[in-house]
Amino acid sequence: MRDLKEKCAVVGVFGVKSAAKIAYLGLYAMQHRGQEATGLSVSDGEKISTIKNRGLVSMVYDEPMMEKLDGEIAIGHNRYSTAGEDSILDAQPVYARYSLGEIAIAHNGNFTNALEVRKALIDDGAIFGSSMDTENLIHLIAKSKESLLRLRILDALQQVEGAYSLLFLSRTKLFAARDPNGFRPLSIAKIGDGYMVASETCAFDLASATFERDIEPGEMVIFENGKKPESIRFAKSDPKHCIFEHVYFARPDSFLFGESVYAVRKELGRFLWEEDPIDADMVIPVPDSSIPHAIGYSQASGLPFELGIIRNHYIGRTFIEPLQEIRDLKVKKKLSPIKELIHGKRLVIVDDSIVRGTTSKKIVSLLKEAGAKEVHMRIASPAITFPCYYGIDTPHQNELISHRMASDEIRAYLKADSLRFLSIEALKKSVQNRGNFCLSCFDGRYFHNI
Ligand code: AMP
Repeated sequence: MRDLKEKCAVVGVFGVKSAAKIAYLGLYAMQHRGQEATGLSVSDGEKISTIKNRGLVSMVYDEPMMEKLDGEIAIGHNRYSTAGEDSILDAQPVYARYSLGEIAIAHNGNFTNALEVRKALIDDGAIFGSSMDTENLIHLIAKSKESLLRLRILDALQQVEGAYSLLFLSRTKLFAARDPNGFRPLSIAKIGDGYMVASETCAFDLASATFERDIEPGEMVIFENGKKPESIRFAKSDPKHCIFEHVYFARPDSFLFGESVYAVRKELGRFLWEEDPIDADMVIPVPDSSIPHAIGYSQASGLPFELGIIRNHYIGRTFIEPLQEIRDLKVKKKLSPIKELIHGKRLVIVDDSIVRGTTSKKIVSLLKEAGAKEVHMRIASPAITFPCYYGIDTPHQNELISHRMASDEIRAYLKADSLRFLSIEALKKSVQNRGNFCLSCFDGRYFHNI
């Protein structure tokens, strides 16, 4: 069993006054990557201070708190937890004192060998305070026989496998590292005389930082006072970027793995139409995540784009989420159809993905109750039949509806008039470097022992 997962946002700031405030803006822009908990660690050159708590960025931090977080180096983290794992102990950055001083770590990704590494550390006497695989790194760094922190980090990275975009904060330096497959994004920007590192470029836009480049798979960049950022290639680059970042996870205004998320999503919508042209009265997105896909579908097909389903933006998380019955209620609270618009109409409903099938089932029934004549579900990604071990929060395989049912069975279960998933070939054609992507949730081809 490997269910230690971190699916999150990370941000780092170096060489800028009030670095924590810039990092805070980055976290604010990347709230979509994690709503469970948030944290910031800042160094003033002599000590590291950390604030973290459960909740949204706008709720956790206040001005007096930020005033106290003085210093020119900061890292931050938004945590996206699976239901039931939302302990404050699992919030990041993870901070520790060790023989070289102090360290804080922020991690986006998921180690595929986390349990083996943890077991070996425990057998060797280590004590853990959380269920996070990130804590493994603290121990590996603390135990390393190397003298310099950079060498200890590289030593630790040799021992972990899987997906990681990592930030390490010492009292005087910032280290940013990306796994050899570059599963999760991590980019660098210039801000004033300093630098910003973030999971997504939308963080740079809010902080008025200028995007420079992606950190390469297998690269670590070290930021140190009075020096240019230093790049160390610690492993051969073998890109396997997460295609689901483009499908669903990232913000559409981000520039991800070398291309615009928005443009890729429109392509997905275009191929969805081209693979199965169908006559209908209008195209409706499942808001908000599927709006770009539906625009692509509408522009390719010439069918009018309408906002036939309205999303309530003001609902918070329900604490009873793990219960299936409550999930259904949650969808209903969140999405509501415009009856006058859809009554008697043949609708193409575009969604980016089907995971458990809960959302789609409720949507079809809401639309039919509101008088839709036909509901044609179009999914802008292939069927998700395998769980992700690289940091996207997918449920266990038997909860994935496409694992349990074939497409026509799902159509019958949803009570839709038709259902069509995008093909894997079309998904690959929607991105520029099609060989550079991980499609394991669609094709089950993992790159590590799972
Ligand atoms: P489901 O109801 O379980 O089929 O979930 C599908 C819906 O959730 C789609 O509308 C997606 O936009 C969204 N979705 C897909 N993947 C995820 C994820 N990893 N976390 C949260 N929501 C997701």
